[in-house]
Amino acid sequence: MKLDQTLVNAAIALLEKRFPGAEGIAAAMYTEDGDILTSVFFEPEWGSAMLCAETGAICEAEKLGKRIVASVCVSRQTGDSPMVILTPCGICQERLFHWGQEVEVAVPTPSDATKWEVKTLKEVQPYYWVNAFKTID
Ligand SMILES: [Zn+2]
Repeated sequence: MKLDQTLVNAAIALLEKRFPGAEGIAAAMYTEDGDILTSVFFEPEWGSAMLCAETGAICEAEKLGKRIVASVCVSRQTGDSPMVILTPCGICQERLFHWGQEVEVAVPTPSDATKWEVKTLKEVQPYYWVNAFKTID
């Protein structure tokens, strides 16, 4: 499955449902067989145990034995804020690399974060650290 507006809409729909009129972060991912897995961020009041919005969907895919092929994360800072696209953080990129460098992720366009474009992890991280080991095989 290729990253498309349907996947972006799934993330937005979850954010709207889970955090109506409020701040929120949500993610949606395509599995290789076309399922959509979604999840939201988790931010406990105390400590630094926050989990990115992608985490739940990543764990769900692993539980089901499915491969993630595309990922979208959306956020808004208040109920009145525009919905922006978030590039997966470094930790989530690392997790998504589990399914290969061709996993697609939505990134905000350089001039308008409410719009998205598709990049593979390889494009987001052309100097991914694991590549060092591929040059010596
Ligand atoms: Zn993250």
